[in-house]
Amino acid sequence: MPIEPKLRPCPFCGSDKTKLHGPDERGDYYSVLCDDCNAEGPPGEDGLYASELWNNKSDSHCVLVLSRVEIFAAVVVPILLGAWFWGMFLRLTNQ
Ligand SMILES: [Zn+2]
Repeated sequence: MPIEPKLRPCPFCGSDKTKLHGPDERGDYYSVLCDDCNAEGPPGEDGLYASELWNNKSDSHCVLVLSRVEIFAAVVVPILLGAWFWGMFLRLTNQ
């Protein structure tokens, strides 16, 4: 029996119904799956590694969400502001 480390709750839905699955059809990889929302952790070559990846992902989930917001703020907001200023510029120059 392989030793299964304790799995953290799902970073997406908070469920603790997380299970280690594997190896997959090709016999290559193990991964942790959430029974509630079907989230899948990164694949690992063995159960222990897959569990570690899953647990690390739980740690970095908040950072990941934050960085998406930051990307939105850094890319979309300047484009919208630029378009607004361009519109103002055209209106002013046409008068
Ligand atoms: Zn889940």
